[in-house]
Amino acid sequence: MTGIIAYDVFMCVMVFIFGTVIGSFLNVVIYRTPLGMSIVTGPSHCTTCGTRIKPYDLIPIVSWCLLGGKCRACKAKISVRYTIVEALTGVMFLLAYIRYSLTLMLPMSIILFCVLIALSFIDLDHMQIPYWCTGTVAALGVINVIITAVMPSPANDLWWMHLLYALAVAILAGLLALLGGLGGGDFQLITASALLLGVRIIPALFIGVILGAIYGIAVKLASNADVKDKTSKLTELFIGWLENNDPTADKIIMGEYEEGKVHITRYEYEGKKLNEAPEDTALEENVSEIFADVPANHEYIFRVSVKGGIIDKLRLQRRIAFGPAISIGVAASMLYGNTILTAWMNIFGIAV
Ligand SMILES: [Zn+2]
Repeated sequence: MTGIIAYDVFMCVMVFIFGTVIGSFLNVVIYRTPLGMSIVTGPSHCTTCGTRIKPYDLIPIVSWCLLGGKCRACKAKISVRYTIVEALTGVMFLLAYIRYSLTLMLPMSIILFCVLIALSFIDLDHMQIPYWCTGTVAALGVINVIITAVMPSPANDLWWMHLLYALAVAILAGLLALLGGLGGGDFQLITASALLLGVRIIPALFIGVILGAIYGIAVKLASNADVKDKTSKLTELFIGWLENNDPTADKIIMGEYEEGKVHITRYEYEGKKLNEAPEDTALEENVSEIFADVPANHEYIFRVSVKGGIIDKLRLQRRIAFGPAISIGVAASMLYGNTILTAWMNIFGIAV
């Protein structure tokens, strides 16, 4: 008996350590892939002083703690985030192992969790979910549909139901994306996850929407003062700009602050048709000055509509990364989706 327990504990520790090592690699993926850098060539180095990091300083979690979160060479602070990613990956691997033991669902969920962790942090940094992430989730979904068709487990989990849920979710999320409330990457992630999870996409979305709303409100409150300040500065700027640029015409000016850069597209009415106007780099530079103090990983969009030479409406809002919220929902449902569904059915008295 004690032999079995000792073996279980040993396996759990090994799985956790393996997870932290993979998490260390995920840090490289999160940092390098959005910048178009290779993840295989080039050794790890300190981002401040450029010193190559010694192998013994690359032990997940442990090295960061031993070094007190500082580079050995230049004593620059190393973000605790690297350690968080390593520990999180370790915990997710452990949960997957406890839930699925040594079955086919173990590698499936481990790959899924790696992709979800990578895309969440990339989304937080760059406000975008890479195609390779949503593509991998979709591929896992296809593999799972095949597995479900060959050996349904539980017995009422039918392969074509996965296709049906993916279709239903694609229509729903597609509408939201068209209305502008949801990014293209979020849409792909939700649809691919529905293909993978089948009916378990319901608790996944439930969790994702709640967390997303909480996060969205928190970000909105935190950036409220900044939005107000930038809105008044933009208004002032555009009033001056309009005076010098065809003051009577109707137009729409749309802009975004992304990756630390401002991009503006102007549309003007010619007759009744709205046509794209030529670029105005001077205007872009002036708007850039207003956003000069905003961190590069924040994103803003604004829309100015001008009627009869007067600003009719100026809307500025901060974009929110929903990838992490959706990912937490999907991961939770991959592990405990059936348990949540059963609990709901019991609460609402639906017989199963
Ligand atoms: Zn350094």
